[in-house]
Amino acid sequence: MENKKNMKNWLENMELAHPLVIAGPCSAETEQQILNIAHQLKDTDVNFYRAGIWKPRTRPGNFEGVGALGLKWLQKVKEETGLKTATEVANRNHVKLALEHDIDLLWIGARSTVSPFIMQELADALQGTDKIVLVKNPVNPDLGLWLGGIERLKTAGIKKLGAIHRGFSTYEKTKYRNIPEWQIAIDFQNKFPDLPLINDPSHITGKRDMIFDVSQMALDLNFDGLMIETHHDPDKAWSDAAQQITPATLIQMMIDLRIRKESDEETDFKSKIDLLRAQIDIADNQLLETLGRRMKISDQIGELKKQKNVAVLQSKRWNEILGKMILEGETRGLSEEFVLRVYKAIHQESINHQQKIVKGS
Ligand code: PEP
Ligand code: MN
Repeated sequence: MENKKNMKNWLENMELAHPLVIAGPCSAETEQQILNIAHQLKDTDVNFYRAGIWKPRTRPGNFEGVGALGLKWLQKVKEETGLKTATEVANRNHVKLALEHDIDLLWIGARSTVSPFIMQELADALQGTDKIVLVKNPVNPDLGLWLGGIERLKTAGIKKLGAIHRGFSTYEKTKYRNIPEWQIAIDFQNKFPDLPLINDPSHITGKRDMIFDVSQMALDLNFDGLMIETHHDPDKAWSDAAQQITPATLIQMMIDLRIRKESDEETDFKSKIDLLRAQIDIADNQLLETLGRRMKISDQIGELKKQKNVAVLQSKRWNEILGKMILEGETRGLSEEFVLRVYKAIHQESINHQQKIVKGS
């Protein structure tokens, strides 16, 4: 317990009046670009200036980062603006170089957290460092890998630890670049309640116009901070162009976001109920997404029925579904009456959809 408390201290010791903000471009491109953005973020709410030096690209042939040269530019940022610096490390050589260049915060990317071998190599290289180390969630929705990465770093004596929630890969396309699966972040928070948890809406959304809403959701869920990719000319960025915002947009966002401050008058009851309500909102969104997906499949069945001239209402199939769902519902504490009512409504909507399709012949 004592040990856990120590870890939150690095953030508490900063005594910020607002959540932690890490901002800066996805990638360091040129010295001029790095300095230009940094100067625009100077004297704002930004606490750490991020820039990727070594870029993990899913497919080869894309811009893979400027390499160690960029660390010198980050040092210059610190000298000229006073901003603390942050970059991603993915092997022991990156760690060595980043520490030599006095980078203040090192984060471990989603493609590294998936590999216990890489995590162990990084933990060994970081052994005993007093720099801040943040671990992004793995690309796949696996809480164990994320926790395991943290545990390896704790064992290596790293005190200033934290985590970044950047969403998870899905094969199926969704409106997100990486689906948030908020429940995993909440479960993480429950396992390590004293570890600062930062949200990365840029990599979750992949689109700049969705960043505000995801940031607000994260703050409502009690996240400790945000990491937001910021570029002076986002559309021309060498990586992740669609998700970067300008420094001006970031500054406005910081004004518009409703920041949940745990003030004295805010009772335990209120913060608990807000957290539960945010979880209800997530579940409701998932419900609608699932219903929408179900209806699209039903539309495809409608097309097939139309082609083969089969009747829309198939009573036998419908009764089978009902029977199965009543049993399923029971195991989840849902009454038969409720399941019947919900399924009748779903079935009716499905029939309406299919009838429209069949009529359209
Ligand atoms: C990044 O922060 O630029 C990055 C590569 O992130 P992730 O590891 O979340 O993909
Ligand atoms: Mn990026």
